[in-house]
Amino acid sequence: MFLPLLKEKFEYFTRYFENAFTKEPRKIPQSIILYGQDSLAQYYLAQDIARNLNCKEGGAPECGCINCSWIRHNQHPAVLTISKNDNKSSDDTTKKVISVKQMQTVNNSLINSSEYYRVFIICDSENRFLTKSQEKHLKDFSSLGFKLPDEVNDGIWYPKPLTRETLQSEASNALLKSIEEPPEHVLFVFLTEDKEDLLETIVSRSQCFYIPSFLNEKYDTEFFEPLLSNYPAIKKSQVPKITQDFLAAKDEAGYETEYALDCLQFYFAQLLKANLGSKQLVSKIKKDIMSLQKAKKQLEAYVKPQIVLENYFFEITG
Ligand SMILES: [Zn+2]
Repeated sequence: MFLPLLKEKFEYFTRYFENAFTKEPRKIPQSIILYGQDSLAQYYLAQDIARNLNCKEGGAPECGCINCSWIRHNQHPAVLTISKNDNKSSDDTTKKVISVKQMQTVNNSLINSSEYYRVFIICDSENRFLTKSQEKHLKDFSSLGFKLPDEVNDGIWYPKPLTRETLQSEASNALLKSIEEPPEHVLFVFLTEDKEDLLETIVSRSQCFYIPSFLNEKYDTEFFEPLLSNYPAIKKSQVPKITQDFLAAKDEAGYETEYALDCLQFYFAQLLKANLGSKQLVSKIKKDIMSLQKAKKQLEAYVKPQIVLENYFFEITG
């Protein structure tokens, strides 16, 4: 049975699977797609399905059997996370796709029979330092007791939705036969944001479940609001000071620049909603939200936060 927090948050999904677990014989699909915005929740749901399928003692949430305990520690030999890196120190961390070879390894492993219920969780991932909101989200789930895969380098392993760039057609196709006619007791779980992000051939062979997102993150806008009091009439001459003050304010609040940009985006989105009557302002705010996307990309490309912010504030001057 699912862990209480997951049951509470994902009532429809967990009820569906609990029914499937208890039916005789168990009616478990061989391939499922979990889609929605919250990859972390999807990942934990997949882990708890795997735990239920492998527990020999009824899957009670507090069960301490060897299978449950291996899965909690992310060390079960038959519950594997397949992402572009295998989380080994030998990994090539520049690898951008899930390879055909990885899928062939999955196929080959299915040739041998297993005493376990084999679960393959297929997702994208990154090793990263978490933003405040991701940290908080991870903490929300910490009571589940599941460990994420080990990180390769610095930072924390964090699941990301599959896209057609990460899971390309060759790798998808390599897996098709196994999805279609798997041996007994095998489950494939694909994590993505939108079904459209996966090949039709995978989608048509899988049962799809929408996983609602409870990421209603609280964005802090207070720390910078006074700095933008002249918006939309900020002058170019004010930009250096606004940049300095913004950096100081976000540091004092303990926020990463990435999260600070999310807060800015939230602020502008609210401003947009409040000013729908004014065509001119709406188009300006929309443009400034678009520029934020550019700023985020620069930040991802390791441009210094000060330069990113200064460029951004220049772009939104009146
Ligand atoms: Zn157990």
